[in-house]
Amino acid sequence: MITKANTILKNVFGYENFRPLQKEIIEHILNRKDTLVIMPTGGGKSLCYQIPALIFDGLTVVISPLISLMKDQVEQLNELGVSAVMLNSTLSPEDYQINMAQILNNKVKLLYVAPETLMMERTIEMLSKVNVDCITVDEAHCISEWGHDFRPEYRDISNIRKQFNGAVLLGFTATATPHVQDDIIKNLELKSPKKFIASFDRKNLHIQIAAKHDPFSQTINFLEEHKNQSGIIYCFSRKQVDELYEELHARKYSVRPYHAGLSDADRAKSQELFIKDDIQIIVATIAFGMGINKPNVRFVVHYDLPKNIESYYQEIGRAGRDGLTAHCLLLFGYGDIRKINYFIDQKEEKEQRIAKMHLESLIRFAESPFCRRIPLLGYFGENYSVENCSMCDNCDSPEKDLIDITVEAQKFLSCIKRTEEFFGVMHIVDVLRGSKSAKVLGKGHDNLSTYGIGLDHSKEEWLNLSKQFIQNNLITKDINFGSLKITDLGYEVLKGKRKVKGTIEVEEILFKSKPETKVDYNKSLFEVLRSKRKEIADRSNVPPYVIFPDKTLIDMSAKYPGSVNELRNIHGIGEAKLKKYGSTFLKVLNAYYAENEITKNSGQTDKIHKKISNKSRRYKIIGEAYSAGHSVEALLKQYGIQFQTLIKHLQTYVENEEALDTLRLLELVTASADEQERVFDSFSKHGTLTLKETFEELEEAVSYDDLRVLRVCYLSNGE
Ligand code: ADP
Ligand code: ZN
Repeated sequence: MITKANTILKNVFGYENFRPLQKEIIEHILNRKDTLVIMPTGGGKSLCYQIPALIFDGLTVVISPLISLMKDQVEQLNELGVSAVMLNSTLSPEDYQINMAQILNNKVKLLYVAPETLMMERTIEMLSKVNVDCITVDEAHCISEWGHDFRPEYRDISNIRKQFNGAVLLGFTATATPHVQDDIIKNLELKSPKKFIASFDRKNLHIQIAAKHDPFSQTINFLEEHKNQSGIIYCFSRKQVDELYEELHARKYSVRPYHAGLSDADRAKSQELFIKDDIQIIVATIAFGMGINKPNVRFVVHYDLPKNIESYYQEIGRAGRDGLTAHCLLLFGYGDIRKINYFIDQKEEKEQRIAKMHLESLIRFAESPFCRRIPLLGYFGENYSVENCSMCDNCDSPEKDLIDITVEAQKFLSCIKRTEEFFGVMHIVDVLRGSKSAKVLGKGHDNLSTYGIGLDHSKEEWLNLSKQFIQNNLITKDINFGSLKITDLGYEVLKGKRKVKGTIEVEEILFKSKPETKVDYNKSLFEVLRSKRKEIADRSNVPPYVIFPDKTLIDMSAKYPGSVNELRNIHGIGEAKLKKYGSTFLKVLNAYYAENEITKNSGQTDKIHKKISNKSRRYKIIGEAYSAGHSVEALLKQYGIQFQTLIKHLQTYVENEEALDTLRLLELVTASADEQERVFDSFSKHGTLTLKETFEELEEAVSYDDLRVLRVCYLSNGE
């Protein structure tokens, strides 16, 4: 039977291997033994009952409390060619009848049903006429009053089961507490069940906790690093959600708010747009995320402190369900702790004690200098013993690599002080490095004692250092003007009362191999495939991930399949999807190969791969090619990158190597000569680290694309 399961895994779902425990669980279910599965969100629970459902002769009933999830599962199964239907209160009477008829005609393998619908007499009556082989209880913790969302109707499930005695009963949950697990077994009346508990380690989540000093700028910086990606930003209060939403919206981010104060319609709209990739960012209170199953959420930001470790785990768990790397940033501020403490103080004494305990373990978690996974998984009773997870901030920058940068900090801080906390990063670096720019000379800053004392480090190194000073909360940056201010902590460093550790070498900071770059793939091809997918999804009115997950498109963009058979080897392509979308995507793929002169036999794909993996020096290759007269268009094609990426490479090139022919670059911008002048003026005022200030100063008349090009010109001209 397990060979059958293997075949289904490949042919229906298009996956190569089972994830941990899936095979054991499926085997156990196929032997018709009651089972309780505890697996984290994204662990792959659904497959554990869907594959047996396809092997059993009769029907599998899946009880699910969330209608949106139900709909999602049914859509995804239908896309895979599996006959699945749902019954719940949202169906029209006609659809309800159609679904019932299909079930009675034994046309259906999986029935998704809301608990209250299952309890209805007509449902029970209908089910008594068909052969029910399996009853699956999804989100089984809903049966427990100890769980976080108790559903009284779940208590009747054990009675219903008695009417289908031949059926095996399964419980699935992502809740880890033993108390709840016992409750599930007891209340579902599972018969000598076996418990399968998967590890709660979500290996693909990169965890970072930063001191919260300027949350808005920190968030903007983070978003700039995650362009074109879907993500959720969690805030503590509705008010905070509204404010942050307004700010991001004004800055042209693709964003919507979500909290309990909005109308149902507004909330539903936000959710739908997010799921369909029509907007990228949701700013939400914790109310958001329960009912969604979007697999390609690439980041979760905690703008405020979460309630406790468990909620933190749940919330970050909404990222990266597709198994690809996702980033989780928590902004940790002591002010938030005061706020939460205040709320706790309003509670009753017994609750207070528990809440304080939770808060304390959260603080310990955030302050720990060791791997984030140790306390996080420890909370769930797991001993994490991997030495370096390489997916958290503490493991990324082990203490041993840090050197003493106190002297650098003192130089930088005293330069800020001498220039009266009025200037941005660029100007401070210019003064430190003894620049003869008009601005430095004009302000008389060449007469300062800090003028030229930083020549021992390059401009890039100083910029890198300044970022660390901000991260370490020695300085803050004014959101509107970019001017730097010294914090109390900074003064302690300046007075020699405190030491600072960090790194000086820049090491390709722009292309620092972030975990996701481990997968080499052609990003421009990925974008082409993505827009095709969106087109198909919109036509069928389903979310894009129902057609194919991102991983499928990435796999195509890495393997360059050219035939039906080659498509079969792509992640997530089973027979049904091959039939449905194979030829459409092959057309797109082959057109792309032709246009970009990718010929599989000439070994060109290998060559492209090598070039892509050689990222660290890529800016140099591209900068030199541009210098040698290659046009931007030709370079875009040759390297299969986006315009923005190309410009970023050129920027790194002028920052690290040498100037470029700016006249040719200027041909790329649409801004008028007058506007260009004003942009350069603005750069000299605000620096070029972020473009936001300039964008606003020019009242949004000059696009970000233009600003990026102009920044390269500006830097190239020796500023
Ligand atoms: P859960 O219900 O536990 O949160 P899902 O069942 O939704 O998780 O699975 C998460 C994602 O992982 C889905 O996109 C699913 O298709 C994918 N997945 C599950 N099992 C496998 C597997 N063996 N190989 C590859 N992908 C898998
Ligand atoms: Zn770690």
